Amino acid sequence: MTMNNPYTHSHDNKRYFTINHYFKTKYHQKVAKVPLNAGFTCPNRDGTKGFGGCTFCSGKGSGDSILSFFDSLATQYELGLERMQRKWPDCLGFAYFQSYSNTYADLKTIKKIYDPFYARNDVLGVCIATRPDCLTPEIIDYFSVKAKEKETWIELGLQSAHDKTMERLNRLHTTQELWDALEQLKDTPILTCVHIINGLPGETKEDMIDTVRQLGKHPFDAIKIHMLHIIEGTVLAKQYQEHLFPLLSLEDYVDVAVRQLEVLPYDCIVERLTGDGMAKDLIAPLWTIKKTIVTNEIDKKMVALNTWQGKKSGN
Ligand code: SF4
Repeated sequence: MTMNNPYTHSHDNKRYFTINHYFKTKYHQKVAKVPLNAGFTCPNRDGTKGFGGCTFCSGKGSGDSILSFFDSLATQYELGLERMQRKWPDCLGFAYFQSYSNTYADLKTIKKIYDPFYARNDVLGVCIATRPDCLTPEIIDYFSVKAKEKETWIELGLQSAHDKTMERLNRLHTTQELWDALEQLKDTPILTCVHIINGLPGETKEDMIDTVRQLGKHPFDAIKIHMLHIIEGTVLAKQYQEHLFPLLSLEDYVDVAVRQLEVLPYDCIVERLTGDGMAKDLIAPLWTIKKTIVTNEIDKKMVALNTWQGKKSGN
């Protein structure tokens, strides 16, 4: 907190709880996440739930920033960490299992993939992106034990708390399944991060803010918020090109994000306020490429309104 900033979880005058602040406070060092593709698929792609996936999914299962996915997992991690350390020489690494649904396998396969990462000295922690319908009790038990060895996060995509939107996106799981997963994880040492997307077709600004309000009633530790990206080759891109639907302007996105931060629980970590897609495949909106401008505008608006994370959350 500084003299002019009433928000206490901050070392750099931000008015929300950044992941950098969390890592800096906990490890006193820069921490970087190394994105990995472990070769999983997704029940929404292989026909178990459906084919084709969520309408916004690029076919790389959200792993667009992974540059070396043809390498072995160990090599992916080593190359990725090396790259991060060129930018931040002393940084520590988290293994970030990002592509597709990273718990969509039997326990034997899960152990084969994850055990070596828990055994490595150069892995500080493990993050696992998955779907709520890919978390069996035995998988939760396995990661609950592992979470006592190394910090472990499970990331779940909510996108919207409105089932109508989820159906339109072809998510093929309900919001209730996500709330249930958060309840199952709450008494374990596993930390949870929930993704949401602003600007989904058919949603108003109030719907987007309501998603965060509803999420706030459930147990979770962190959130990633970003604007909908229309990516080349997705079902959404086809829908967009066939009948253009309105996308949020930068100004509207900033307005929504600030209002979402206000209703977010005070102690929740904000991992992202921008997306991490590859600019070369992006059809729209092009303003999302300039991530620093987006976060600067959010900071400026919070100062102008003298507001902060959790100001209107009631907790
Ligand atoms: S759940 Fe994830 S990996 Fe599966 S189709 Fe949807 S966005 Fe893609």
